[in-house]
Amino acid sequence: MQSKKFLSVLLTLLMMAGVIAVAPVVASAAGPDAPLNLVLTPGDGEIIATWEEPPDNGDTIQYYVYDLYVSGTLVGGNAIGNVLTCTATGLTNGTEYTFGVYAVGAVYSSPLAQDTCTPHGHDFGAAWLNDATNHWHECECGEKSGLAAHIPGAAATCTAAQVCTACARQLAAATGHTPGDWVVTLEPTTTTPGSRQKKCTVCQAVTATESIAVLKAVGLFGMNTTYPSNFLNWFLFIVCFGFIWMWFI
Ligand SMILES: [Zn+2]
Ligand SMILES: [Zn+2]
Ligand SMILES: [Zn+2]
Repeated sequence: MQSKKFLSVLLTLLMMAGVIAVAPVVASAAGPDAPLNLVLTPGDGEIIATWEEPPDNGDTIQYYVYDLYVSGTLVGGNAIGNVLTCTATGLTNGTEYTFGVYAVGAVYSSPLAQDTCTPHGHDFGAAWLNDATNHWHECECGEKSGLAAHIPGAAATCTAAQVCTACARQLAAATGHTPGDWVVTLEPTTTTPGSRQKKCTVCQAVTATESIAVLKAVGLFGMNTTYPSNFLNWFLFIVCFGFIWMWFI
């Protein structure tokens, strides 16, 4: 209420001094436009307001005045200098305030620019939010805390990505293995299969393994000596030997 008193005393003094011809709250099309782009940011028991200077339409802006309303009742306000920001303090967390600000020209006052805002103690929580560059904590009102660039952890490996040591966001994907050539790890024999594998040329991890087929032994007439080919082979040999023997007798 002190600020309200201060406002009325200030306005009375200004009017007595002839600085302003009419009560500043009376807007006129001839005076400055309403302050532009009013942005209200809630704080702990306070509202931080910023705005941009409007066109003065030839009526040079002298200072600004803000008002605070709760449910339509004026609960505070102040005449402030020719500035583009102010902080209303001593407010009640959880209460919605309507904040209005207008410019006071040499002759007329501007229309009001206003918006609502509810002060509260920010709750930033423990969870990190992040984008490609930064991480931060954020209150549900959108206020950010701890905004900082990511802190890169160990460089990415074949299987592990590089992540931020604070928020764990992936900064670089795992590179994947670089498979080398096949290397025989067990030679096959005519009775047991062999095996071979590929290793990553970077981390030596085995990236592929496969078996090598049993060797085929080469028998008579270049034929396979394993059964049933083995049986056929000997059968043909005996038949041929039989013909040769018969030719001799
Ligand atoms: Zn908040
Ligand atoms: Zn991070
Ligand atoms: Zn690897």
